Amino acid sequence: MIKSINHIGIAVKNLDESIELYKTLFQLSDIHKESVVNQKVNIASFKIGEVIIELTEAMDESSPIHKFIEKRGEGIHHIAFESDAIENDLSRLKDSNINLINETPKDGAHNMLIAFLHPKSTGGVLMELCQEKGE
Ligand code: ZN
Repeated sequence: MIKSINHIGIAVKNLDESIELYKTLFQLSDIHKESVVNQKVNIASFKIGEVIIELTEAMDESSPIHKFIEKRGEGIHHIAFESDAIENDLSRLKDSNINLINETPKDGAHNMLIAFLHPKSTGGVLMELCQEKGE
């Protein structure tokens, strides 16, 4: 079941410049940085209330974030919804003819499993499902 919004992904050209901007905007001191090699992105994240804001920079020109910025510029990239049973939600959505980018979950940031839904099936919004990895 999908239970909450976990994070909002924002595509940025330059992570360090964006970190400075967001520090100013939200008076942040604690920003978490990590790289997700299988998605070819570097991320910086921080929490506003219960929702994580995830600034996402392309690792190289083959990254989906690079292509996104070329096409649409910097801005909101995706909304991630947290599931307590990601495999069940993916098969339910597939049965409802929702086009899945990832049919099986992959490793994402924050020690989570993630899977993207195709924006053609979701009214133009790139949606991610995520679930905390158990032991
Ligand atoms: Zn995400």
